[in-house]
Amino acid sequence: MMKLVIPREKHASENRVSITPDCIPSFVKMGFSVFVEKDAGLGASFPDDMYIKAGAKVSKNSKELYKNSNVVVKIQRPFKDSKINEFSLIEKGSNFVSLIYENRFKSDFNLLKKNKLNVFAMELMPRISRAQSMDVLSSQSNLSGYKAVIDAASQYNKAFPLMMTSAGTVAPAKVLVIGAGVAGLQAIATAKRLGAVVFCFDVRAATKEQVESLGGNFIQVEENDSGETKEGYAKEMSAAYKKKQSLLLEENLKKMDIIITTALIPGKPAPILITKKMVKNMKNGSVIMDLASEFGGNCELTKHGDTVEFDSKRIIGPINLPSSVAHDASRLYSKNILNFFMNSCSEGKFSGFNWDDELVQGTCITKNKAI
Ligand code: NAD
Repeated sequence: MMKLVIPREKHASENRVSITPDCIPSFVKMGFSVFVEKDAGLGASFPDDMYIKAGAKVSKNSKELYKNSNVVVKIQRPFKDSKINEFSLIEKGSNFVSLIYENRFKSDFNLLKKNKLNVFAMELMPRISRAQSMDVLSSQSNLSGYKAVIDAASQYNKAFPLMMTSAGTVAPAKVLVIGAGVAGLQAIATAKRLGAVVFCFDVRAATKEQVESLGGNFIQVEENDSGETKEGYAKEMSAAYKKKQSLLLEENLKKMDIIITTALIPGKPAPILITKKMVKNMKNGSVIMDLASEFGGNCELTKHGDTVEFDSKRIIGPINLPSSVAHDASRLYSKNILNFFMNSCSEGKFSGFNWDDELVQGTCITKNKAI
């Protein structure tokens, strides 16, 4: 029997858990004996007794947890401080599945490599139809887009919906979403449900239809360029385009109350789209929620993990929004992982990853020390 381990996430402000109790019976059916670290699911409201009922064993001791394991599934890369070193606990030659971001956390990646592990970076899941149910970036971004609007609304000192009262009318909030990817589209839907008038801007012309289908107003730079790579991602635009875009944004930003920025170009720092001067010209009390802050931010003033007060405006650089909706984020992540393992099963049983499969090849960043 293969041993699958679910450690408690130890990085600061990580409340999620990699596998939730509802998925345990499926892993057992696949042939795993499942071990979960004590209190691993507590931050996401999945206490140990739920895991026990679902067929997992709870382990109090980290060494015992990892001993003789074949598969370790996490959300964050392994944790290391003066008291605990998860890198050294993972059995040599075993399989490690998690979010890795090897370019941003090179030293952690090197430690993983040393251990002759098969390392699977879930953020690299190919974005093809067959892999949609395993796409952790989408499942987590979706919740980020939702939570960004909720958090921005709580930081905003006016109401979202139009209210006609005997004491006067409250105008609806105007929300601008920059970037209509997975997070942006969910932000549009959430802001609409709260009653805001929603606008959206994206360099990819193809997103216009998606924005409009959610009731958003698309702001468009007139240009004969799809703005898209052949993989469907945004591409870096010409200097002339950027100039037009900047003028258009500057004009629109003056009218907005809440800005949710999500603009990313794969492999590059986030483009700076909102300058200090633009913020100065915005309405007092307006809020910028910069979801691109982890990658440098879309606003010149953003500080990752901090809230900047500037000229009566508030610029928020949130850390790990999915962790603030840990219950649902964990459930979706867990389902993504389950589907990834099922993809390598033969007759319902898992006896190792199917190395011929493009999803396994696409996510595996080291196999037995080789990159
Ligand atoms: P992302 O996080 O890479 O980027 C967010 C958005 O920012 C994108 O819509 C991008 O066009 C936009 N952007 C980049 N630069 C910009 C700029 N200067 N100004 C304004 N907007 C800018 O996006 P994502 O959520 O990862 O989605 C990217 C693409 O992948 C989309 O086409 C999406 O539909 C597609 N996708 C496919 C699958 C699948 O088939 N499995 C799953 C998820 C997403």
